[in-house]
Amino acid sequence: MEKKEKLYEGKAKILYATGDPDMVIQYFKDDATAFNAKKKGTVEDKGIMNNAISSKIFEFLQANGVPTHLVKRLSDREMLVKKVEIVKVEVIIRNRAAGSLCRNYGVEEGRTLHHPILEFCYKEDKYNDPLMNDAHITALGIATEKELDKIKAITFKVNDLLKSFFLALNIELIDFKIEFGRYKGDIVLADEISPDTCRLWEVGTGVRLDKDRFRHDLGNIKEGYQEVLKRVTEK
Ligand code: UDP
Repeated sequence: MEKKEKLYEGKAKILYATGDPDMVIQYFKDDATAFNAKKKGTVEDKGIMNNAISSKIFEFLQANGVPTHLVKRLSDREMLVKKVEIVKVEVIIRNRAAGSLCRNYGVEEGRTLHHPILEFCYKEDKYNDPLMNDAHITALGIATEKELDKIKAITFKVNDLLKSFFLALNIELIDFKIEFGRYKGDIVLADEISPDTCRLWEVGTGVRLDKDRFRHDLGNIKEGYQEVLKRVTEK
């Protein structure tokens, strides 16, 4: 697939046009940001590892009936995806307390929850991705009620699938963020699912295998991603 002009550059990925107007190439960089880009750095080969991990996870979800933007992994850092219009909402599921849930509500990290929490954040860096509810989303025209219903149903299904996917690798899925796009009138899972966008704790030891190693300077950042990649690819 021919790589054409750059369409968009985000914090961790670049999108390039292709010869097909319905397809784009998603290129994974090594750049890492946290706390709304207040902390910046690079993690050697992160783009390669996240491309491989995300491809495997999207293939698994697709095979289990989740519509995704993935067409195929093209190279170390590139994946061919359907060209979607991104819904400007970040969809988060929390299975156990961590991150902003602890900061905002004074909950201790690791606390078990009575049930998973579904959260929406407005995908707009300049306003610091504020939390929003269903009414904000439909009233502001960010998504229709029908689209939102689909997004919620797919998100809970993704949580169920990924919890058991990771548990089989001796990893607990603490929380994650996903994004959706519109493609030919339908809602599909887009963006990426990787240690950049999930909290992944090793079962038993609680060892962090995700971007918290970068966020909180825990060291061995690359090794955490490598461990996830190893387990995901050996599956
Ligand atoms: N997350 C993400 N991108 C964001 C915000 C959050 O991928 O812009 C992921 C994050 O990695 C974690 C989950 O969503 O797996 C919940 O994040 P949280 O709200 O706790 O944010 P943080 O602690 O990073 O501020």
